[in-house]
Amino acid sequence: MKEMICICCPMGCRLTVDDSDINNVKVSGNTCPRGEKYGKEEVVCPKRMVTSVVRVRGGNVAMLSVKTKEAIEKSKIFDALATLKGVVVDAPVNIGDTVVSDVLGTGVDFIATKNVAAK
Ligand code: SF4
Repeated sequence: MKEMICICCPMGCRLTVDDSDINNVKVSGNTCPRGEKYGKEEVVCPKRMVTSVVRVRGGNVAMLSVKTKEAIEKSKIFDALATLKGVVVDAPVNIGDTVVSDVLGTGVDFIATKNVAAK
């Protein structure tokens, strides 16, 4: 049995996750289905969104904030961040542009989270 806070929205519901049978995990305390999904994933395969920054060439700012388009396995966060090392994108950049595709074969891309105009 595990207690946790659902981080999917600001409500922060307090979840109780019964993982005594890993093939039949039960979640209670959630207000919506997202909480049930989150609780199950947390005990089976926890995932997180990953955020960072990369350098920009020829832009009106030097750095671009990026994030994974979807959450990836928590155990892959540091390796995912390593894929951004040395990455430089050319301005202009638009929100949602792919910066690194298919990070670690997860099928999830790092995308830009802001617009950067060219100088
Ligand atoms: S269970 Fe639903 S309402 Fe509660 S914090 Fe999670 S997403 Fe929000």
